[in-house]
Amino acid sequence: MADLPKSAKHLVIGAGVHGLATAWFLAEAGEDVLVVDKDRVAAGASGIACGVIRNNYFQPAMQELMAACVEIWESDPEAFSYHGTGYIALGPPAQEEELAQVFERQQRIGYDSELHTGEAEVAAHMKAMFGDWRAEGLTACLHEHVGGFAFNQESMHGLADKARAAGAAIAEGVEVTGFDSDASGSVTAVQTSAGPIEVEQVVIAVGPWVASLWEMLDLPDSIDVHHPDGSVEKDKPMWTYWYLQEGEVSLPPATLNTDDGSEPPVLHVDSHAPLRADDGTVLTEEPWGIYVKPDRESVQGGAAPLTVGPEFEVDPYPTGTVDPKFPDEWCAALSHCLSRFEGCRESYVQVRSGGAGAFTADNFPVFDRMRDNVYVAADSNHGYKMIAVGKEIAAELQGGHSTLLAPFRFERFATGRLHPVSQSPYPWS
Ligand SMILES: Cc1cc2nc3c(=O)[nH]c(=O)nc-3n(C[C@H](O)[C@H](O)[C@H](O)COP(=O)(O)OP(=O)(O)OC[C@H]3O[C@@H](n4cnc5c(N)ncnc54)[C@H](O)[C@@H]3O)c2cc1C
Repeated sequence: MADLPKSAKHLVIGAGVHGLATAWFLAEAGEDVLVVDKDRVAAGASGIACGVIRNNYFQPAMQELMAACVEIWESDPEAFSYHGTGYIALGPPAQEEELAQVFERQQRIGYDSELHTGEAEVAAHMKAMFGDWRAEGLTACLHEHVGGFAFNQESMHGLADKARAAGAAIAEGVEVTGFDSDASGSVTAVQTSAGPIEVEQVVIAVGPWVASLWEMLDLPDSIDVHHPDGSVEKDKPMWTYWYLQEGEVSLPPATLNTDDGSEPPVLHVDSHAPLRADDGTVLTEEPWGIYVKPDRESVQGGAAPLTVGPEFEVDPYPTGTVDPKFPDEWCAALSHCLSRFEGCRESYVQVRSGGAGAFTADNFPVFDRMRDNVYVAADSNHGYKMIAVGKEIAAELQGGHSTLLAPFRFERFATGRLHPVSQSPYPWS
């Protein structure tokens, strides 16, 4: 942007899914809004996300929010590069009860899904779509008929186009370096690499960079977490980094198609079966989990995240690389499920190296005003799919109340109104 405005009614920091969606809905409502990004649209996590859009969460508040998100994805599939192919979660007996609960809530909120239980029934459901399905020991299958996946970069540019068309300005290459506040703590101006910007409202939506902006606001880097049972975890780090592992096999995307030639639902498999390479070597006897979907020109997916800890150098982004065992295990898992992937290890390409996410003290999002006029959208790395959060934030900034975001306030750490925690041994839900 040639001339950066000297003031903005709403200054949104970060041009990822939350910043762009907030800007879009604010601008649509006729509000003056400027987005600044230190790099460019989709430079952060939203631009490298696998792009899976699912409802399968054990927490009711997450499910309700995700259902609202799907409505927005579905509103313009072309602009969002959205493929509404659905999503299937498969698990062993340890997952049955929780998937059944998720399914029951989906029925209550009108989310289109079906549940299959028992190994034979699950296998029959999968074989009806994929004749070469061969995974054993899976006794629960939640098939969500809505949701699916979207292509990360394209969808973020589609969102940016919508924001611009509605009247939002987006300034790339402008880094926020500090905040000027008045005596009440309200932010009056935002310091940037291109000079100060006077503001009425600020939205911080900086994904994995949230810890640095949090510090600029003098917010605590560790907190006490009060649990519903009255116990307290003292001095928990507010932010912990996890590394999301992803990989690709350079096979045509249609390799994953169902037998009738349709684009497949996203497949998400958690298993406790021993994982073997194609030559029979046992790679792990620990529970394992993967997800997989078609990408633009290949088949892409990931596995369970790795915890890194409270310190992490986020720049340059994305950083780091996958666990050395990841390519073998991910390819073996594909082959474990579908015989069409036998030998796919040879086609593994390390094009994507995954990326880091900043998780909150309870691993769920914080969507809240952290100062009178500063709204923080910190999604704890759940958020590419959460395209409706910006709509809700925009409504709140205009004086409304969001029942969808209310369960994600920062005060929950002090009041003990935490989200229920899944007992699943798998770290996804
Ligand atoms: C490998 C990987 C796979 C994932 N897969 C999925 C998935 O399949 N489904 C899903 O729902 N979620 C997924 N996620 C999580 C999801 O990507 C993130 O939760 C979400 O994209 C975060 O969006 P955001 O808008 O908060 O931040 P981001 O998209 O990270 O955008 C933040 C922006 O802020 C800018 N910025 C940072 N600091 C400053 C500053 N000081 N001044 C100005 N600008 C700044 C950055 O340049 C960046 O563009 C995945 C994450 C990773 C890492």
